[in-house]
Amino acid sequence: MRNVEVPEYEIHEEVRVDPTKTALIVVDMQNDFVKEGGSLLVPDAEATIPKIKGLLDLARESGMKVVFTQDTHNEGDPEWEIWPEHVREGSWGWRIVDEIAPREDELVIRKVRYDAFYGTHLDHYLRVWGIDTLVICGTVANICVHYTAASAALRWLEVIIPRDATSALDPFDLEASLRQTSFLFAGRITSSESVKVAA
Ligand code: ZN
Repeated sequence: MRNVEVPEYEIHEEVRVDPTKTALIVVDMQNDFVKEGGSLLVPDAEATIPKIKGLLDLARESGMKVVFTQDTHNEGDPEWEIWPEHVREGSWGWRIVDEIAPREDELVIRKVRYDAFYGTHLDHYLRVWGIDTLVICGTVANICVHYTAASAALRWLEVIIPRDATSALDPFDLEASLRQTSFLFAGRITSSESVKVAA
């Protein structure tokens, strides 16, 4: 065990977004990751549900676009060689948790890798909608949230991560990913209650 210090990164006390140009991305809040009995449980994920609900309320009230990602694997998927079997298409574990179920008019992006842009239509929809800013929450912070944030930032989208609405398997992983997002992508780290709609 080595101890390292997390370098300082800014936690923004308030982040104002233009709801017409911002999308809320809820990453992989599926039973296998979030709920007791899930095959790849992130113990801290369930506690983020109320925070994500708060962000969903803000987005829905202000007319922001909402996108859910849904990690989706089938027999023979090489990810099951890295991780235990998880989110088999059609299974209970694959479903997004009931508490924050997508509405009919909200986009659900089924993805096969950590990056929600890879092999999906996400980029297309964000362009069609004229989105320049993403508020990204969900799980796992240093895996699918991180690689989606990275992929967004490489496309010059603004990235905002409310740290209390994301979760990881280990505090180091969470801090490492937030620091990277702040330091490398000039992303803004904040809290879910600090995300506000521009007046
Ligand atoms: Zn997966």
